[in-house]
Amino acid sequence: MIIFKSADLLYAELSRRKNSGQSIGFVPTMGALHLGHQSLLERSKSENDTTVCSIFVNPKQFDDEMDLINYPNPIAKDIDMLRHVGVDILFHPTVDQVYVPGVEHEDLDLAGMDLIHEGEQRPGNFQGVAKVVKRFFEVIQPTRAYFGQKDFQQTVVVDHLIKLESMDIELVVCPIVREPHGLAMSSRNERLEDVKRDKAAFIYKSLLKFKERCYFKSLQEAKETTVKYLTSIEGADLEYFVCVDGVTLNEVTQLEDAAYVAALTVVKYDDVRLLDNIILKDER
Ligand code: AMP
Repeated sequence: MIIFKSADLLYAELSRRKNSGQSIGFVPTMGALHLGHQSLLERSKSENDTTVCSIFVNPKQFDDEMDLINYPNPIAKDIDMLRHVGVDILFHPTVDQVYVPGVEHEDLDLAGMDLIHEGEQRPGNFQGVAKVVKRFFEVIQPTRAYFGQKDFQQTVVVDHLIKLESMDIELVVCPIVREPHGLAMSSRNERLEDVKRDKAAFIYKSLLKFKERCYFKSLQEAKETTVKYLTSIEGADLEYFVCVDGVTLNEVTQLEDAAYVAALTVVKYDDVRLLDNIILKDER
């Protein structure tokens, strides 16, 4: 595995590979890699000649400074995992390589998708995501880019960005990898004690029940029951539970409102923000 810290050198190497006809798969991460990240890397490896992983804890997408300071950074362990998976290139830049001093990074037109749901809870997060992803796409010029369904809203924002910038990149959305009890894997899960990690499976279980319910009750009735349950759990603080059109992210109140519908939720459990979602219907 070749490790690049310089964006210019990486650009030169990947331009050479692209010009010789190689396909490039790209998996952006913030490190603290787990089996969820590994699934994206393996998928990329199976579909491309070269797989590039980036590890960059993007300061622009953190609205909470303590979250940024406390974000795990086990780089040696991450490099071992990437070598084990057989990743070809790691891009591990400093902040200056990504946000070149003196270069303006204007806000992008995200059609308001950055201001709702997760965006409302974490102001600036999706502008930060879009800016770093745009910069990485320009440097890496991937044929395919791999993102997890775990961050559902992020995948919709990236899809929008690709169209906005008329980039010739295929977005590949990969399924959520879960811990044995059902909690969606996340670098932030490390902050939960083992016993709480098992208990936190109530989030996924409630999403599964919700999906079942919304086929024989109205979406609104099913939602009321689920919200009531999620707010009754000791130590849990429900931030949001919303059903959306999976293309526009607009809220829907009935399954018939869109061809592609997902339920998105964030529950703060033991002070850790846990994101999860479930696809209710996909008739695209
Ligand atoms: P992060 O390092 O948290 O920014 O995540 C990097 C990529 O891995 C994003 O596209 C995430 O959606 C994806 N990812 C994170 N956790 C999981 C998971 N449990 N299953 C599948 N993909 C995931």
